[in-house]
Amino acid sequence: MTIFVSPRIKLAVKREGKEKTLIRVGELLVGGEKVIVIAGPCSVESREQILETARSVRLSGASMLRGGAFKPRTLPYSFQGLGEEGLKLLAEAREETGLPVVTEVMAPQDVKTVEAYTDILQIGARNMQNFPLLKRVAGSAKPVLLKRGFSSTIEEWLGAAEYILHGGNQDVILCERGIRTFTKLTRFTLDVTAVPLVKNLSHLPVIVDPSHGTGHSSLVSPMAKAAIAAGADGLMIEVHPNPEEAKSDGIQSITTEEFQKLMKDIYPVATAVGRRL
Ligand code: PEP
Ligand code: MN
Repeated sequence: MTIFVSPRIKLAVKREGKEKTLIRVGELLVGGEKVIVIAGPCSVESREQILETARSVRLSGASMLRGGAFKPRTLPYSFQGLGEEGLKLLAEAREETGLPVVTEVMAPQDVKTVEAYTDILQIGARNMQNFPLLKRVAGSAKPVLLKRGFSSTIEEWLGAAEYILHGGNQDVILCERGIRTFTKLTRFTLDVTAVPLVKNLSHLPVIVDPSHGTGHSSLVSPMAKAAIAAGADGLMIEVHPNPEEAKSDGIQSITTEEFQKLMKDIYPVATAVGRRL
């Protein structure tokens, strides 16, 4: 049985001649046979921290580096990110390792600064329906990684992608990052079902973030495997050299050693579903 979405969603859905969008980021293709693994800390905290993480995840086989410089935090007392200084550190890490960089932009007025340093603009879950921000990144030449809002339906998520496509930016990567449910033992519930569902409906690449999706480091590798088995085009994984000292999301961050193991663990799953790492 086909699952139908609102006919008013036009650009984000598959149609004749538009079955699959491949997004070029440097030498990488997102949405192709290769599963793209984006790894790095929740927040860029210092030069040593981001460089050490970048070097290590690259050696383990990551495709891109992540790290937040502008952080959406629940409380104003929490670490808010290093801002432009953090962007400079990410650019330095890219320079040294060759890994393209993904970082979040929270406000339309910051897009110009963030796009000067990053390879991909991340729209966070809390901003999925920040329409002025969606319209602003629609005018950017950089690809956009659009996270699903944790209380958003799949149609609302595709509607947010529609804004970016409609505004002229065709390079949208969708990221499932967990939704709110009644469960208390995990931070969110990773909606793995969204992966095959959206891959059937949309031509856009879909990646999965099992770090925010679970909220616990011990659940990251098993759910990374589940995501790839379900057809995800990539993963976003929070990695920190010392999670206990992390300024944000330490509980869900895995160590560089655990990341190395995760890359080994997902390999047979990727191979089994006809993908490569
Ligand atoms: C993040 O990637 O660090 C982040 C804040 O994610 P989300 O927007 O999915 O909560
Ligand atoms: Mn985080």
